[in-house]
Amino acid sequence: MIQFIPLRVISLMMLLLLAITMPLTSCKSGKQNNNSSKQNESSADSLQNQTIHQQAVVIDTHTDTPMKLINGYFNLAERHQAPDSRVDFPRLRAGDVDAVFFALYTGQRKRTSENYLQAYNLANQMLDSTLAAIKRNPQMVTLATSPADILNASAQNKAAICLGMENGFPLAKDITRVKAFYDKGVRYITLSHSSNNDICDSSTDKKGAEHNGLSSFGKAVVAEMNRLGMMVDVSHISDKSFYDVLEVSKAPVIASHSSVRALCNHPRNLSDDMIKALAVKGGVIQICILGGYIADEDTGSVNYRKLEELRLKYNNWQYKDDEERKKVWKEYDSINKFYPPVLPDIARAVDHIDHVVKLVGIDHVGIGSDFDGGGGLSDCRDVTDFPKITDELIQRGYSADDIAKIWGGNFLRVFREVEKIAAL
Ligand SMILES: [Zn+2]
Repeated sequence: MIQFIPLRVISLMMLLLLAITMPLTSCKSGKQNNNSSKQNESSADSLQNQTIHQQAVVIDTHTDTPMKLINGYFNLAERHQAPDSRVDFPRLRAGDVDAVFFALYTGQRKRTSENYLQAYNLANQMLDSTLAAIKRNPQMVTLATSPADILNASAQNKAAICLGMENGFPLAKDITRVKAFYDKGVRYITLSHSSNNDICDSSTDKKGAEHNGLSSFGKAVVAEMNRLGMMVDVSHISDKSFYDVLEVSKAPVIASHSSVRALCNHPRNLSDDMIKALAVKGGVIQICILGGYIADEDTGSVNYRKLEELRLKYNNWQYKDDEERKKVWKEYDSINKFYPPVLPDIARAVDHIDHVVKLVGIDHVGIGSDFDGGGGLSDCRDVTDFPKITDELIQRGYSADDIAKIWGGNFLRVFREVEKIAAL
C-alpha cells in the first residue's frame, strides 16, 4: 500500500526552517558565505514556488487516460513513464495535482444504429473501468462529482478523479442518456469531436457545416445539461456552434482543452472574439498543451507527415470497429515513439495564458493538458512536470492568487455557477 506524505505540511515546515536558518548563515562573512547565502536564496525561491504550487487547487480539465484502460492492460495504481503514458495515480500526487478530468472519448463514426451502440458501450466500458480503478485504490484517489468533492479530496491528500465525456456521439439522439451519464458521475460533455455529430458541427469536419451550428437536438442537450448541472464543453465545436451554445446556455461554459487561435492558427483553437464572448458569459478557456495547438506545426517533419497519413488512412479517425481503433492508437504511439515530434515548450504554452489574461483578465483561463490524447510539451511530459508551469508563471510576475485562479480557481467558479443555476 502506498502512503502519501502530506507534501503541503512538509514544504511549509521546510520553508519555515529555511527562514529560521538563513539569518544565522548571513551572520558569517566572506565570499564563500555570499555564495552560500545566494544558494539559500535560490533554494528559498524554489521552496516558495513549490509552496505556491501546492497551495493552489491544481485541476487538469482534460486527459484521455480512460482509453488506456480499454486498449489493453493498464494499471492506474502503478507508476509509468512518458511518453507512453502521462497520467497515473502515483504521478498525480507527485505533480501535486488535486483533480483531473478523465474524458470518456469516442471517435465520431457514421451515425448507424450499430455504431451508436458501439460508442455507447465503449463510453460505458471506459466509465466502468475508471470507477473500478478508483474503487481499488481508495488510499490514493476518490471520485469527485462536485467542487466540494474536489476540495474534500484535496484536504484528505487524495487526487480527485472527475469524469467528462468527449464527443456526444454515445448519446445517440436519446436525451435521457444525458441524465444517465450524469447519474454515473459525468460532469461535462464536449459536444463534438473532429467531425459533425447529431448535436452540432465540428470545427474540423472536412465536409463543412451540416446543421449550421447547434442542431435542435443539440439545443435540447444544452438545456438538459443546464437543468442537471453539467458543464457544457465547447472545445472542438465549430465557431457557429460555439456562438449558438453561448446564446442558448443559461450557465457559463467551459472549453476544457482549447488554445488561442491568434497564437496558433488552428480551427480547433478559439479566436479573440470567441474568448471575449466566453468571458462575458462568465466561462473559462483551459489552455490545451498539445504541440499542434500551441505552435504552428512543422508540416515538413516526418512525424507530421506520418500522422497525417495515418489520419487520412483512417478517414479522420473514423474507425471501422473496435479492433481498428486499437490498431490506430498503436500506430499513433509508435509514430510518436520512432519519429518524435519537435514539441513547443512551457514558455510557448504560457504565452497563451498571457494572451487570454491581457484580453479578458485573470478570471477566465486555466489548463487542460490533453495528456494521453496527444498532449505534452518538450519540458512538460507528464503531470509531474506541472510545477514547472507554476515556475514559469511566477517568473512572469503572476502572484500566488493569480496562479491559484489559473490552476483551478477559475474552473471551480464556473463549476459552482453551473451547479447553482441547475438548483434554481
Ligand atoms: Zn480533444
